[in-house]
Amino acid sequence: MSCCLIRNCGRSSFRGRFSKAAISMQLRQRRVESSSQQPSVCIDGITMDNSALFLDRDGVINVDRGYIHRSDQFDFIPGIFELARFWTNELRRQIIVITNQSGIGRGYFGECAYEDLTQWMCNRFEAEHTSIARVYHCPYHPLHGIGEYRRDHPWRKPRPGMLLQAVSDLDLDPAQSALLGDNISDIEAGEAAGIGLRILVAPCGAKKGAGAPSHEVVADLGEALALLRSHFAPTESDRA
Ligand SMILES: [Mg+2]
Repeated sequence: MSCCLIRNCGRSSFRGRFSKAAISMQLRQRRVESSSQQPSVCIDGITMDNSALFLDRDGVINVDRGYIHRSDQFDFIPGIFELARFWTNELRRQIIVITNQSGIGRGYFGECAYEDLTQWMCNRFEAEHTSIARVYHCPYHPLHGIGEYRRDHPWRKPRPGMLLQAVSDLDLDPAQSALLGDNISDIEAGEAAGIGLRILVAPCGAKKGAGAPSHEVVADLGEALALLRSHFAPTESDRA
């Protein structure tokens, strides 16, 4: 039984237990330059900084209507492509999606439907002149999962497993990375993984409750983009 699916959009898929060796080899082959202070990775000819933008899916990329599993249910949230283009085209850095998908474990839809929708989503980003480098998902639920899907998996947010796996896979610097989520569990996962900038998208407003990890709050993706621009201004090397 698979642990979690990692999709390397548009290039290859890894199902089952994570093929870390294969990806490590892939990255070694693609690494064009590195230093102890600023490692960088070259993917498809583009040199990437070692920071990334982590996006939750439902409620950040698409309107969250609950257990979405078909493209005709999937409405992109206004501003997501502009935000993505800033990150991938101006900063030349990677976007990684991290998403709890307990609908699989609950039996609402299957892994194949999820994979098809993920590929469709990645294709839409490509059509909008941006890209998603990786998508990590966790299909398990500790209470409502059916059969082998009923377990408390370390990848399920608020636990940081998906983030930590991506950091390891892609040699990322979490402190120089950012995360965008619409739920406090996203923020908690980001804090546990050491993500430097954590942004909560809360259209109806949200208070930073006592005990919650520190984070920024924005009303929409336009505000999120402005915040990212203020923290991650393109450098000359980004533009080169
Ligand atoms: Mg969400």
